[in-house]
Amino acid sequence: MSKGLLIVASGPSGVGKGTINRMMMERLSGIGYSVSVTTRSPRGGEVNGKDYFFVDKVAFFNMMNEDKLLEYAEVFGNYYGTPREYVEGELAAGRDVLLEIDVQGALQIKEKIPEAVTVFFSPPNMDELEKRLRGRATEEDDVVIRRLMDAAWELSQQNKYDYVLTNDDLNSCVDKYIEVIKKERGKRK
Ligand code: 5GP
Repeated sequence: MSKGLLIVASGPSGVGKGTINRMMMERLSGIGYSVSVTTRSPRGGEVNGKDYFFVDKVAFFNMMNEDKLLEYAEVFGNYYGTPREYVEGELAAGRDVLLEIDVQGALQIKEKIPEAVTVFFSPPNMDELEKRLRGRATEEDDVVIRRLMDAAWELSQQNKYDYVLTNDDLNSCVDKYIEVIKKERGKRK
């Protein structure tokens, strides 16, 4: 059976990876988005089952114990994980899958599934990242500082990724991302 391509995208909070992935998926068909499970509360406008599956800690730990998560991590005091069944089913059916997950999760995936393609989105510099995080009306001041500290750690891990793409210009970053995916798709043919 043909196997799909597993794309794992990470990058610090505020780098714009959500927008980049959305734009990429508007231009490339045949990629399924893996909806993660999280214990964090929904933010305004987020839809259960589309942005995340919002669950309580008991349900999350049950999934963990029953081996229903392909990877999981604690990020900013909440738990996040990738449901195994959806990803494995799509890949086995030959369809491509996108995971938008943090560095800890991406490294777990790369270890378990070495043929996964990992992409790290990097900000042009820390000042720019801070500006973008502060521009998010939803984030409190201490949350911004915490996220900047975590971003510094995430940036130190970018050399472990297959590709690092700098988001200095949104459109050209998406163009480069699409080139990467097309190239990796081509290798599997
Ligand atoms: P947010 O709460 O801002 O939506 O996400 C916080 C961080 O958790 C982001 O870096 C996001 O990519 C990451 N994340 C989302 N889903 C998962 C997941 O299933 N596993 C892991 N390891 N990280 C995730």
